[in-house]
Amino acid sequence: MVPVIALVGRPNVGKSTLFNRLTKSRDAIVADVAGLTRDRQYGEAQWQGHTYIVVDTGGISGDEQGLDMIMAGQSLQAIEEADAVLFLVDARAGRTAGDEQIADHLRKRNKRTFLIANKVDGADQDSIMGEFAKLGLGDPLGIAAAHGRNINPMLEAVLGEE
Ligand code: GDP
Ligand code: MG
Repeated sequence: MVPVIALVGRPNVGKSTLFNRLTKSRDAIVADVAGLTRDRQYGEAQWQGHTYIVVDTGGISGDEQGLDMIMAGQSLQAIEEADAVLFLVDARAGRTAGDEQIADHLRKRNKRTFLIANKVDGADQDSIMGEFAKLGLGDPLGIAAAHGRNINPMLEAVLGEE
């Protein structure tokens, strides 16, 4: 079975940027506007001889402000369909109430979840990483999707033992 890996997180944390890097495709729309990618996007990717499917979630429009919307619709379904979830948070923005709501949901699911702090090219990471560790999903792994930093260790953690 080809593993399915879902990218989940608040708008603008870098899900589509990571999707594009992993799949080397431009299928997901990367935008400065939060939530522009409205539907799930599936991409096939390869890592060290493993083929896997990446799911980009973004089914939340920029207009919908309620925190409930963060976990709405497609994202919830993508989590259920996935073999593993990469839960992305934004190391430049720090921990937010939206992150906490998503973490609450993920902790209740019986799903392999990896806490990924994106945009570690920003300053003052150590205190922010400590904040993310308190989400109750283990220590965050810092990456920079836009620059390709730490992508390989991330994939090793997710796919290496399969
Ligand atoms: P999504 O809403 O979660 O899909 O986020 P996007 O992939 O559309 O990215 C939102 C913004 O974050 C864009 O302006 C990206 O260029 C930016 N971004 C993504 N990854 C990184 C990163 O590693 N470092 C920095 N500094 N910005 C990033
Ligand atoms: Mg997106």
